[in-house]
Amino acid sequence: MPIAPPSPRAPVPDTRDGDRPETPAQRLSWVVRMHYRMRTAAFGMLFLAVCLHARVETVRIDVWLFLGLLLIAYPHLQFRRAQRSSAPLDTEMHNLSADSLLLGISAAALGFPLWITFSTLLGTLSNNTANKGWPGVAETLLAFSTGALLGGTVWGFRLVPGNDLPTTLLCIVCLTAYLVAMGHIAFTRIQRLRDTREALQQRERDLMAANAALQRNLLEIDALQEQLREQAIRDPLTGLYNRRYLDATLERELARSQRDGQPLALILMDLDHFKRVNDTYGHQAGDEVLLQLARLLTDMARVGDVASRHGGEEFLLLMPTMSLATARERAEALRHTFGAMEIPFGNLKLRATLSIGIAACPDHGTTAEDLFRHADRALYQAKHEGRNRVAS
Ligand code: GH3
Ligand code: MG
Ligand code: MG
Repeated sequence: MPIAPPSPRAPVPDTRDGDRPETPAQRLSWVVRMHYRMRTAAFGMLFLAVCLHARVETVRIDVWLFLGLLLIAYPHLQFRRAQRSSAPLDTEMHNLSADSLLLGISAAALGFPLWITFSTLLGTLSNNTANKGWPGVAETLLAFSTGALLGGTVWGFRLVPGNDLPTTLLCIVCLTAYLVAMGHIAFTRIQRLRDTREALQQRERDLMAANAALQRNLLEIDALQEQLREQAIRDPLTGLYNRRYLDATLERELARSQRDGQPLALILMDLDHFKRVNDTYGHQAGDEVLLQLARLLTDMARVGDVASRHGGEEFLLLMPTMSLATARERAEALRHTFGAMEIPFGNLKLRATLSIGIAACPDHGTTAEDLFRHADRALYQAKHEGRNRVAS
């Protein structure tokens, strides 16, 4: 008879095997099956106790008939009822109340023998309480008393509380066995609940760890994406912006300068006789010269200026809001500073010069094409006029 889960559940249609729904028997809860075993055993033991009691107290034939049906057939009938029900657990909860009522009737039918009455009341009371909590106590007492009244009405109200010793001993043994079995069932359920809770907690911890790992991966992906974005717009040797980035920025800055009525300057530079540096000191020395020029450009650039490597040994400085006159001054300063630099390479001190072509907006045009064409022409002029100079 004992212990059910906290509340009866509505049946859930099973869709695991395609469209075939679960039969009520498949849906039977473990509670119903366990109650069936416990009820059959407990009522069987009670029947034995009644048999013992009948040695000393006369039991009427119609009472025998009622007790036979109740204690032998009834547990199987109740199980069949739960099996056929669409909500077996709900039906089983009603069965528990029916147990109390019928046991009340049998107690009255026997004239309330003390140990038999006490054992049956305590059994059904503890079972109902384990399944329904405090309401189970009230329900049992009400159902048992109603049963006793009904029994008294049918068979007459008699009070014959005496039990002989064998009946008393059997009742004590059966009651003890019943309560111990209930305790054991409660223990195993609690144990299983504890295991389930621990497994759930472990799963939650695993999930949190997986989540943290996922977050870390996402951060790594973000960082890699950022790195890729940077690589797409940077020159790998010098770290300056590449031509692709400069082209896009120049379009934007030209639009802005026209909108704001502000000038804009482009300073295009090319290392003089750079091939000789490579040929004389090696490619690595050439790289060192390129790096030093890149550093100088980065230092000279204002916030908003874009220093870029235009390809090979050609560099470009885009200076928004800068007039042609100021650009000339800056280009001269750049040429002079770079020309005066001694670039350390091993034991050597390398020197190199720059030829510079300047183009400004609006002086030489208002499109990127105009400005590039003019800056190229000016650079060619600077080379043609003997290198290491600025032309515009
Ligand atoms: P000019 O004064 O007329 O500009 O002469 P130049 O020697 O500088 O010009 P040229 O176009 O003949 O040679 C450019 C050299 O730049 C050739 C090429 O090997 C070198 N170069 C291009 N990119 C790199 C680079 O990344 N590293 C090094 N070390 N050299 C490079
Ligand atoms: Mg060149
Ligand atoms: Mg050159």
